[in-house]
Amino acid sequence: MRTRTFHLTTRAVHAGTPFAGGDFLSTVTPVYPSVTYIYERMEDLDGVFAGTRPGYVYTRHGNPTVAALEESMAELEEGEVAVAFASGMAAIHAALLASGARSGAAIVAAQDIYGATYALLDKLFRAQGVVVRFVDATDLPAVDATCASLRPVVVLVETISNPLLKVADLPALAEIAHRYGAALIVDNTFATPYLVQPLKLGADLVVHSATKYLGGHGDALGGVVITSQARRAELLEILKLTGGNLGPQEAWLILRGLKTLPLRMRQHCENALAVAHWLEGHPRIGCVHYPGLPSHRQHELAQQLFQGRGYGGMLSFELNGAGRDEIFRFFEALRLCLPATTLGDVCTLVLYPAQASHRALSAEERARIGIGDGLVRMSVGVEDVEDIIWDVEQALRQPL
Ligand SMILES: *Cc1c(COP(=O)(O)O)cnc(C)c1O
Repeated sequence: MRTRTFHLTTRAVHAGTPFAGGDFLSTVTPVYPSVTYIYERMEDLDGVFAGTRPGYVYTRHGNPTVAALEESMAELEEGEVAVAFASGMAAIHAALLASGARSGAAIVAAQDIYGATYALLDKLFRAQGVVVRFVDATDLPAVDATCASLRPVVVLVETISNPLLKVADLPALAEIAHRYGAALIVDNTFATPYLVQPLKLGADLVVHSATKYLGGHGDALGGVVITSQARRAELLEILKLTGGNLGPQEAWLILRGLKTLPLRMRQHCENALAVAHWLEGHPRIGCVHYPGLPSHRQHELAQQLFQGRGYGGMLSFELNGAGRDEIFRFFEALRLCLPATTLGDVCTLVLYPAQASHRALSAEERARIGIGDGLVRMSVGVEDVEDIIWDVEQALRQPL
């Protein structure tokens, strides 16, 4: 109880209600920007430190807004727990560490994973003495043989790969990984839990770049790992010690994005299918990669995994005879679609993998995994699909 009238300088620091009392309840999770928390009784603070009492002491150890996002993601992916991170890369890094990726251990990863994930394994983990082997994750006998010889601690795949939209046979991969004692980590960024929940198909950890579809509006960087209760303590320890924490403002934006995830995904899927069909019929377009097309090598597998909910909002296509210059002119001719380096936004985005997501790879590495100089990746937005198609058509009519 304060018995003194404090000076203005002191009141400037302490005035205002630090937390809401009363009998009202906010219908929306508030942003808790507070770095730290106080308790009436010091014993309670001590209990939180000791882990014998729920609560918060310091935001690097936990934050109520971030916890609300984690609760939501655990529910959507039907996992026991979720731990949020500052970015998708921080989440993937922590998931790998928590699965035993250390000197002498081996990791088997899909060869056409996200460029930064490839570089993380190829540069950082290899430099730490981890044995890393990239395989074509759609070639199950090759995955099996690699696991048999390496006995990896982790098999890492993406549900839908970037940028060639290959689909991972998650139940089969889980079986192979488990046969050799490895954990299966699935990057579910492209599919989202709207299309598939990998934990129900045998995955041990699911990782997301929440920056993409989960947030959905291109205004927050974040990542999440969803897994079993047994792995939570290890993940939290890594988070506490490496400090890749998600900020509460970002957590709030992503939580807000999640509320419309199913609505957005439905529209992304519908639009992408229509754009893919249209592209397939265009004379200037070569191969169109989209799991919803019957021409896609794994169309049937995609039907089984996604059970009719759709095939996602991502596609890629070859512009016939094009290289870097032609792709640049094509991008500059677009009037609606944005040539911007992200995906999963409400607006349609195009990206040139050779320049952006797979820039860290050498031209030979890119060629080996099938990413040609004329390949364009498109993240189909939720605009009216007729306007998206109009834009691509008018840009293709320009002389390149
Ligand atoms: C963007 C992305 C990442 C990395 O996420 P950040 O939030 O940018 O760190 C990882 N995997 C996939 C499939 C992605 O699209």
